[in-house]
Amino acid sequence: MTRHLFTLFLALLLLTSLPGRAQAQLPELGNPVDTVLSPAEERQIGAEVFAQLRARGGVIEDPLLDSYLNDLGIRLMSSASGTRFAPQLIIVDNPMINAFTVPGGYIAIFSGLMLAAENESELAGVVAHEIAHATQRHIAQMVAAQTGNSMTAVAGFIAGILLGAIDPQLGAAVATAGIAGAAQNAINYTRMHEREADRIAIDTLRRADVDPRGMASFFETLQRRAGASPGRQFEFLRTHPMNSERISAIRDRLAGLNADRFGASDSQSFRLARARLAALTGTSGLSLEQPAETYRQAVTAERRGDHDQAVEKLRPLYRDHPGNRWYALPLARALNDTGRTQEADRVLADLISLYPGDSTLLRVEVDWLLDRGDAKTAYRTARQAVEERPKDAEAALTLSRAASAANRPLEHHEQLGRYFLLKDNLVAAHQELETAYTYTADNPRAQARIESTLQEIERRAGQTDE
Ligand SMILES: [Zn+2]
Repeated sequence: MTRHLFTLFLALLLLTSLPGRAQAQLPELGNPVDTVLSPAEERQIGAEVFAQLRARGGVIEDPLLDSYLNDLGIRLMSSASGTRFAPQLIIVDNPMINAFTVPGGYIAIFSGLMLAAENESELAGVVAHEIAHATQRHIAQMVAAQTGNSMTAVAGFIAGILLGAIDPQLGAAVATAGIAGAAQNAINYTRMHEREADRIAIDTLRRADVDPRGMASFFETLQRRAGASPGRQFEFLRTHPMNSERISAIRDRLAGLNADRFGASDSQSFRLARARLAALTGTSGLSLEQPAETYRQAVTAERRGDHDQAVEKLRPLYRDHPGNRWYALPLARALNDTGRTQEADRVLADLISLYPGDSTLLRVEVDWLLDRGDAKTAYRTARQAVEERPKDAEAALTLSRAASAANRPLEHHEQLGRYFLLKDNLVAAHQELETAYTYTADNPRAQARIESTLQEIERRAGQTDE
């Protein structure tokens, strides 16, 4: 942990020590918060913080859930007003009902919140609300409002919030270590920020064709449940202060809109995502409709190692919905695990032909080849995907894993560096590419290639500070 935190501070110190900050001028028509935190800096902080969260564990890494939640995030972000960031959403494995936004469009949704949402419109309501905090740059504004904040204080402030959100003890430890006094305050959006986020979220949801009423009903449910059993479980209400006034403001706004033009409140994908999450977190007691309940049982069976039962439950679902990834991927996995590799390969091949260039499928295919001990084919498959899609960060990450298994350290570090670069995590990208460089002694072409990427990173790091 200490090392990770240290990297975060190093990253931020690097930003502050670059020339230019001291002379930074107020841009004539720019946003005043830019002088505290530019969008590019926000991006870097977010990328770095999420990399730390992932490294610490406690994040649910599941290709299907990841792509579901991120597709929802992209849909909402592209309908939001303000500074749009490429959204990055993760699911924190924690039963608390909470969600938070890190600068730069990085949003963490707790598994407890996703399971508490009864339909997609409720989940989307929270995501749209978090997106509004990001696009309105509320954290940067909060930091700007506190006088005398240096970048180090900003770093401490953000690290404290995040660690506190994931693990209260850790958050407190950071604060008491005196790294930054601000950390103790953690995030508390002001009422004004909350009202603004609610208002923008409603517009965003409407533009994205999602019923905005889920947001109001979800907030009401949370407030009612928190009233019945107060405690840390409803952390969301503390970080996003809620009161009946705020809920009536949302209700009033909704009442003034034409309900005939509200979009969908639910989707089959949401129901399957929730069932899958319940299985992966071992959560029982949810009442799920069919086929979500059978799906939950199948994923639970697969997790227990009961592959035959998983196949038995998934086969009919897949037969009725060919091409549905929620069923096909775990079915292929379970078939593989029971030694029915031909049938498994067929299911996966069908999917790949349906979704060419899908990075989730690439990740599964490569993982699978690696599990079978075929690092060579895994490497070749991933290499080809990266050549076809040089901007695909996930493909670069998959290639870096395959390269590591295929004993190619240069490419392992270079692709990891490219992944971080595509995700705007300049510090981590620089680090990986410098490591890659140490493997290029007898490879002048790779040396030149990596050198030019390193220069590009340095140029970009310099620019974020202007
Ligand atoms: Zn909020």
